[in-house]
Amino acid sequence: MPKMYVIGNWKMHGSKITNCRLIEGILSKLPILTKVDVAICPPFPYLQQTSDKLFRRPILLGAQDLSCAKEGAYTGEVSGDMLRDLKTRFVLVGHSERRAMHNESDQVVANKFAAALEADLIPVLCVGETLEQREAGHAEQVIAEQVSAVINAVGVEALSKGIIAYEPVWAIGSGKTATPLQAQHIHAFIRGLVREHNEAIGSDLSILYGGSVNADNAATLFGQPDINGGLIGGASLKADSFVSICLAA
Ligand code: PGA
Repeated sequence: MPKMYVIGNWKMHGSKITNCRLIEGILSKLPILTKVDVAICPPFPYLQQTSDKLFRRPILLGAQDLSCAKEGAYTGEVSGDMLRDLKTRFVLVGHSERRAMHNESDQVVANKFAAALEADLIPVLCVGETLEQREAGHAEQVIAEQVSAVINAVGVEALSKGIIAYEPVWAIGSGKTATPLQAQHIHAFIRGLVREHNEAIGSDLSILYGGSVNADNAATLFGQPDINGGLIGGASLKADSFVSICLAA
């Protein structure tokens, strides 16, 4: 059975003061959940602060990106080992904002997935099509390429140590959520693709949905058979809505 996750992606939001309030707000409202792992991914400069605040609390720490390289002359980059040093457990790889704004190719994303595993982090591989690609009928092909790049680079066995997040680019931050059926269709497609390589790994793979998930639509989305939780942007910045989403999982 795939495990359920709710992961908050704070993107480039927050300050020491607002983070403090947000984390305390979430911790005070979130009951102990036995069937879902909850994590938050603050910006790099706040990983230490967040790590300290989450120490011995039931929320795990994630990061939004990592370097393909282990160490060396890579100005501005952050390695998997550094993240691990701060007790980070998850790391997003291939978020559509990084693919679009930082030209991360499928190959670079696959290398980051491998680097995360090497540092003993759980990579959350983000995949998804643009509106243009969907309207041209290419959504499945784009997603197949994004997932296959990782399988080809690291082997299907490596996927059993990671998570996939389906995030249609047109649904991110737009208020336009994929309908539960649209999302379920792609989730089943991804699971089928992985199952073709390895039945057991495909069946157990956690596939999260991301893109304008909020307190009102989370339960219906998470109720779909192949949706195993969510990657939450905007709604993870408010304690009430993030906790409601966690409770819906
Ligand atoms: P959103 O972002 O929930 O604000 O749409 C999701 C994401 O980009 O991970």
